[in-house]
Amino acid sequence: MATNRTFTMIKPDAVKNGHIGAILQQINAGGFKIVAMKYTKLSAEKAGEFYAVHAERPFYGELVEFMSSGPIVAAVLEKDNAVADFRTLIGATNPAEAAEGTIRKQFATSIGENAVHGSDSDENADIESQFHFAGTEIFG
Ligand code: GDP
Repeated sequence: MATNRTFTMIKPDAVKNGHIGAILQQINAGGFKIVAMKYTKLSAEKAGEFYAVHAERPFYGELVEFMSSGPIVAAVLEKDNAVADFRTLIGATNPAEAAEGTIRKQFATSIGENAVHGSDSDENADIESQFHFAGTEIFG
């Protein structure tokens, strides 16, 4: 996959709180093109697999439970410098530390229920996109 892509999820808290539209609007306004998108729900097993890198962290069980608690929106986004620019748009993991105007500052409720996911590297963007989408579901 090209390095101008990143992967995102609108997490169960933001979906439940009715923020899908507002978050997609900010993603578009930030200059990102949506090249793949689906409304889906992760099983606990799939959520555990997605976050396997955090398996040893104390919050892993809570994270898996939360991420499989309700539907999410998964998407692949395209923009120059997509990974870094999207991390800037969403803000710090903990909304209390996120900059004004960022998606997490506006819509996240806690460090765990923090509204959106954004890949942290080009390599992970590729792995995470392929976790959720077949090649035929991505329209570059
Ligand atoms: P991110 O790259 O900003 O998403 O942050 P991390 O990779 O460090 O963590 C992955 C996800 O785990 C975060 O987005 C949160 O949903 C969750 N998380 C991180 N730290 C904590 C924590 O201290 N408690 C809980 N409950 N969840 C956390």
